[in-house]
Amino acid sequence: MESTIKAAEIVHAGKNIRAALAEEGVELKRVHFLIRQVIRQRLDKGRIAAAAELAEQLGDPEDRAGAFLEIAKAQVEAGEKDAARKSLAKALADAERIAAYRAKQDAAAGPEGPDTRYRSRLDSVMSRTYWAAVSIRAKLRDLDAARKLILKAANSKLKPADWDRALDEPEVRTGWSSALVEAGREAEALKLAKGADGKWRPKMRVLVAWLLASRGQTKQIEQLIADVTQSYETFIFHKVFAHIYNFCTVEMSSIYMDVLKDRLYCDAADSQSRRSAQTAMHKILDTLIKLLAPVLVHTAEEAWAAMKHKSQDVESVHFALIPETNPDDRSRALSNEDGWKAMMDLRTHALGKLEDLRKDQIIGSNQEASVKIVTDNEDWLSIDTDMFASLCIVSEVRIEKGDSFEISADKCKHNKCDRCWNYWPSVGTIESHPDLCQRCADVISS
Ligand SMILES: [Zn+2]
Repeated sequence: MESTIKAAEIVHAGKNIRAALAEEGVELKRVHFLIRQVIRQRLDKGRIAAAAELAEQLGDPEDRAGAFLEIAKAQVEAGEKDAARKSLAKALADAERIAAYRAKQDAAAGPEGPDTRYRSRLDSVMSRTYWAAVSIRAKLRDLDAARKLILKAANSKLKPADWDRALDEPEVRTGWSSALVEAGREAEALKLAKGADGKWRPKMRVLVAWLLASRGQTKQIEQLIADVTQSYETFIFHKVFAHIYNFCTVEMSSIYMDVLKDRLYCDAADSQSRRSAQTAMHKILDTLIKLLAPVLVHTAEEAWAAMKHKSQDVESVHFALIPETNPDDRSRALSNEDGWKAMMDLRTHALGKLEDLRKDQIIGSNQEASVKIVTDNEDWLSIDTDMFASLCIVSEVRIEKGDSFEISADKCKHNKCDRCWNYWPSVGTIESHPDLCQRCADVISS
């Protein structure tokens, strides 16, 4: 602390901090640390330009990259977009220097290979730099640049663990998804979400499930708007009712709401999964009220009055415009390639089995069941079992390769989580929360 004050004094006196501290015999590593401290103090006080000036005195690429990322973040928040882009370029140039250094070290390594500890340190510095940069690019809405960075980080030799660790940061996850989703490149996002072994990266599951669900939803709602508009235009009003009724009972009530419930009630309040579920719900509510307004005049008006964050700033829903289909959304909507249809087909089979179990009173709810599927259908074999389990709201799914199609379900052997009522293997294994599953324990303790 004392040396931080001293460093600040030196800076205040207008001296070159590096030279001055070196004069006093302070070690170079410590000098860098002190400069970083003073930079942070300046950022805290909103003196961004002064902080950037000081960062130029840092010699070590790792320190420089870190400092310029912090500065870029502050500049984004202050609305200084161009300055932020310049700082980001500096941080990334330093990351390149680290990458080049790493390659040189690898080439010079002896027969026992490179120094793994040092190497993994360099890797994690690069990971951090890339991912922080992605998040800043996403905030700047430089989506193309963000995408290139993501691909670079994903294609570089970084270990999967680094990638996963980077994704621990909610900001990076949000940056990653918003960059790709807003650019309409979900297919790419889905590809990146898989590891070299073709399996979903664990941290990506929630996000991918949401991507698939929201795209499935986008397709359904776009279809609804098209159908209802056509029925109004041709004056076939009973079809307006039929389309909306079917959408509410089939798409919403029996599939989407069921799957979303767990996320809305039990995931962390500000988690990506819960927030995106809320966004989707808001869009659906807005569309439904507007489509119903011409035929359900008073109820639609009351619902509109109660709705927060209206999509149009009008006093009455009857001044609002009927939603139009968005051609971009339609082309972005889910295609069968993503395996959504295969998953929904298999779901129909699984739900039939579960219905039988409920009838025989072996289980009370689907959450108590585990499902085993044997099949030779390649589409079904490639389904992610965790995602499929959440789609059927069962506790466990196993899919195995076999000659003929067989599906069986049984009461699962795991304990019930007191908070979310799911039967998961993690229940009972957490010392501090013996009655909770891992997800709920995490939510409670954060
Ligand atoms: Zn739970």
